[in-house]
Amino acid sequence: AKRDGRGIHCFFEAALDQRLMQRRTLERDLRMAIERGELHLAYQPQCDTRTREMVSAEALLRWNHPQRGAVSPAEFVPLAEESGFIRPLGRWVLETACAEAAKWPIPCRVAVNISPAQFRQPDLLAVIAQVLERSGLPPQRLKMEVTEGLLIGETERALTLLRALKDMGIALSLDDFGTGYSSLSYLRRFPFDEIKIDQSFVRGLGQDVESAAIVEAVLALSRSLGMIVVAEGVETEQQLEILRSRNCPRVQGYLLGRPVPSADLFRSRSAELVP
Ligand code: C2E
Ligand code: CA
Ligand code: CA
Ligand code: CA
Repeated sequence: AKRDGRGIHCFFEAALDQRLMQRRTLERDLRMAIERGELHLAYQPQCDTRTREMVSAEALLRWNHPQRGAVSPAEFVPLAEESGFIRPLGRWVLETACAEAAKWPIPCRVAVNISPAQFRQPDLLAVIAQVLERSGLPPQRLKMEVTEGLLIGETERALTLLRALKDMGIALSLDDFGTGYSSLSYLRRFPFDEIKIDQSFVRGLGQDVESAAIVEAVLALSRSLGMIVVAEGVETEQQLEILRSRNCPRVQGYLLGRPVPSADLFRSRSAELVP
């Protein structure tokens, strides 16, 4: 029995070692990914619920790994976040998103995800100002999506930073609303322009009464606070119809458009406009 126990222990240790190794390899590969041009951004439309017209687009990181193929940002963003590499990576995202959006044929907004570690970097404001100036993108065309995680702890600093961004003309969006601690006081204390209802609630629309009740409550709350709501992860006409009937102003999801490279974002849309 003792030997079996040790065997199991060794097995777990080996598995753990292997996971750590894979992690380090991925981390090292990520550091080279920028120089090697393996990264790009895909943009997903955020649309007016009634007209389905695109009003903004969210920039989402894509990594085409030479051996592994497409690696999900859900896998490598947390790695970059822990290793500190998120700062150069986040800067690359910001630079690329602003430069690409500056060339779009219509002046819709570009939404960029900012991670907590990036948010904590002392020179973030200076970096953003510099990137905007170089790209020529007006600050009014930039939106930043942040998660609640970023507001916990350093609330004073977060407040100062968010106010400064808002003063620059940048729009602020609270991402994944309803999934974290969701303290309602955040909405009162921080100057958000927009709330994104997490896709887990949107998925439940037409399935369970709880999801509909939560979506309804977030819509009522945002209305009285003067904030825009974006419902994420809209995949079906039924979900869209429910959101429309509840006067949810904005929608995003595969139904309205999958994330695509900047060059393709207006291709199908301008085709739609041609009679
Ligand atoms: P997120 O910010 O909540 O982004 C929404 C995710 O939902 C994206 O996954 C998007 O492709 C996906 N999605 C959009 N519509 C639908 C739909 O109708 N159905 C379903 N099932 N999914 C939908 P993605 O691109 O894999 O990104 C995952 C997460 O990685 C993002 O979640 C965000 O937290 C992070 N991420 C992505 N790009 C960046 C980035 O540039 N910077 C930072 N810091 N994080 C990023
Ligand atoms: Ca987001
Ligand atoms: Ca989200
Ligand atoms: Ca998410």
